Amino acid sequence: MENFHGELHANNELTLLKKSEENPFESMMQRFDVAADILKLDQGVYEYLKTPARQIIVSIPVQMDNGKVEVFEGYRVIHNDILGPSKGGIRFAPDVHLDEIKALAAWMTWKCAILNIPFGGAKGGVKCDPTKLSKSELEKITRRYTASMMDVFGEEKDIPAPDMGTNEQVMAWIMDTYSMHIRHTETAVVTGKPIIIGGSEGRKEATGRGVMQVTITAMNKLGIVPTESTVAVQGFGNVGSLTAELLSQQGCKIIGISDVTGGYYNKSGINIPEAIAYVQQNKTLKGFKGGDKITQEELLELECDVLIPAAKEDQITAKNASKIKAKIIAEGANGPTTALADPILKEKGILVIPDILANAGGVTVSYFEWVQDRVGYFWSLDRVNRRLERMMRLAFDSVYTTSKEYNVTLRIAAYVMAIDKVSKTLKLRGIYA
Ligand code: GLU
Repeated sequence: MENFHGELHANNELTLLKKSEENPFESMMQRFDVAADILKLDQGVYEYLKTPARQIIVSIPVQMDNGKVEVFEGYRVIHNDILGPSKGGIRFAPDVHLDEIKALAAWMTWKCAILNIPFGGAKGGVKCDPTKLSKSELEKITRRYTASMMDVFGEEKDIPAPDMGTNEQVMAWIMDTYSMHIRHTETAVVTGKPIIIGGSEGRKEATGRGVMQVTITAMNKLGIVPTESTVAVQGFGNVGSLTAELLSQQGCKIIGISDVTGGYYNKSGINIPEAIAYVQQNKTLKGFKGGDKITQEELLELECDVLIPAAKEDQITAKNASKIKAKIIAEGANGPTTALADPILKEKGILVIPDILANAGGVTVSYFEWVQDRVGYFWSLDRVNRRLERMMRLAFDSVYTTSKEYNVTLRIAAYVMAIDKVSKTLKLRGIYA
């Protein structure tokens, strides 16, 4: 930050560039523009796809444990619902803002289109710090947010799920609040619920499993043998920790992991189950002895075969992209690479598996969960995992083929595929006047 502000006074132009580089919506739009050009998208369709269908901002007054009332801001952006009900997670974080939610909602539209899931894209968020809230404060925020979204959410309309700062418990409160309002239990209104109340087997680890699958596929393409490979994982939440665990089960050596407390490096490989058990006990990796302490920046720049950014947006930027040494980047997080970093990574010959493909395992099993809830018949873990693997493999192959066809990166190929599908659907449905 200090450095950033220093440069802010020194060079205004550079600052403007950086500011827009780190605006996720603009980052999304820059890739969208490239793909739209390739597809020679009609100007009207371009405007239509760029603009979110609905943007809702609500204020959430909550009586805190100390008796005082605090007001939080909540968002839900429905980017597009032409392929089906809109789908996407809800994020609780102190720095959530509308542009971020708008980008994340659009990414959900593209993700669902690539995976061939009959959903549109949406995203929600509440500006709050869940680490500083008691369980009852968190519950009140969730219930009041849900109550404000009663005319937005719905099993046929808009279906939330977990994202950063939210979990199964939060989903259970959403499901309960919604059900109380409509006077009957409606499990399919939200996914990522605990299994006992209508959640799906395998949903919790689905995003990590999908990241693992596309990583192994990409390794095969590049002739990297998993059992001889090294991997660094940024972020040790649900996605990062499970990706690390699943990749280590495939024989990959996880040489670096990190969370908000910093990075941990071990050239002979970190014992991932041990790290997961450590975090379960201590909440973070702080004090973890299974590796030498390094910084977050050092973790991204480690000498390794695969880098998995699984923390948050804007981690790989024009500033550090040239220092990345991995051969493959598999984006577990949404938007970890800025648009300005893309050409630098391409120049270096790094294969980037873009977020809208790499982390789509989560929404894929969310779709399975929604199907199971609506039919009232639940699948075995084995069936969930087999179907997930099949859908991820199909999506990877289609994106890969498209990238060869247009001679573009996997990211641009993924955008091309998604935009093509949504715009074709629009053409068939037409614009209702
Ligand atoms: N929040 C996850 C994502 O960004 C999951 C969304 C969902 O399951 O609807 O893909």
